[in-house]
Amino acid sequence: MTDEPVAPGGVVGILGGGQLGKMMAMAAARLGLRAHIYAPPGDNPAMDVAAHATAAAYDDLEALARFAQAVDVVTFEFENIPADALSALEARVRVAPGRKALEISQDRLSEKRFLNELGIATAPYAPVDSRADLDTLPFDGRAILKTRRFGYDGKGQARLAQGHGASDRDGAWEDLGGAPAIAEGFIGFEREISVIAARAVDGSIRAYEPGENEHRAGILHTTTLPARLETGLADQAKAVTGQILAALDYVGVIGVEFFVLPDAENAARLVVNEFAPRVHNSGHWTIEACAVSQFEQHIRAVCGWPLADPTRHSDVRMTNLIGSDVADWQALAARADAALHLYGKAQIREARKMGHLTELLGPARKDA
Ligand code: AMP
Repeated sequence: MTDEPVAPGGVVGILGGGQLGKMMAMAAARLGLRAHIYAPPGDNPAMDVAAHATAAAYDDLEALARFAQAVDVVTFEFENIPADALSALEARVRVAPGRKALEISQDRLSEKRFLNELGIATAPYAPVDSRADLDTLPFDGRAILKTRRFGYDGKGQARLAQGHGASDRDGAWEDLGGAPAIAEGFIGFEREISVIAARAVDGSIRAYEPGENEHRAGILHTTTLPARLETGLADQAKAVTGQILAALDYVGVIGVEFFVLPDAENAARLVVNEFAPRVHNSGHWTIEACAVSQFEQHIRAVCGWPLADPTRHSDVRMTNLIGSDVADWQALAARADAALHLYGKAQIREARKMGHLTELLGPARKDA
């Protein structure tokens, strides 16, 4: 397989048909590239804006082989793609980011081990493969039990309160339905931030400034720039992200979520929660507040193009429209100070990401 850049007119194959794929396809179009979306049949808003689409299962090897034939490079918009599908594609066409990043991030246990081996701090954790493992956790107090695989937006999680007793542990174990899990010690964080960064084929790295994230019920609610964060910590978060990108020999955009610990008690103030081997919800603000968005930066990286300047020109707040929030679309569309994004999903469901709103708050300031 060649390392030549994919030239304008080329086709970017995208696994997954949701809003991230949609925004990637639109960014590809700006560069004169075309998108081919591959996703199981269903509600796939990305297919509305793509030149080509394949509706087939991720284990349909024949359909995957035809898809590989039809595209110049393959990328993905969500991390629960079966690793076998990626192997089948990798044998035929350039895939970025590669299987290593996907496999590590699919399993919370391997993700934490990988980070700790790099010397990157995470929450204390322990594998929980049985109900009995919950009785011998190597840390005290509050904890969160998370399924090792297929969790997102706070799904597949149960909390254990301070001083939890046997019946709380029974309840948490039942909530997860007996799936292999990890328990994480609860981090008393001051705030949450994330870094969106890209690594190019030539190994160069460009990071956007960290955004400050507010979650509600385990789902991202807002991302605000600038984050309330000392410059030193922002630089550290970018450096840690760069370390992860290099260790994975990564090509494309990654999203790394951090907990920021309070100053007084903690020497090390940054703890990585998790990383996503793809464009990330907390990077949507880059569409309006930077010359080149995370979506275009990702397309540039996977197509072997040079990365663009990730400097932010405006202060900005991105707010997710979750479930019935989107019913207010007429009032939101009437706002002169905000950019409305509606994903075009056929059905409104509780906790479903239906769109987002980006408010530009003025020229970029360094500190909040
Ligand atoms: P996750 O699905 O792991 O990203 O978790 C969703 C959200 O739950 C995070 O963004 C945090 O707000 C919260 N959370 C997850 N893990 C922890 C932890 N170990 N300590 C405190 N809060 C957590």
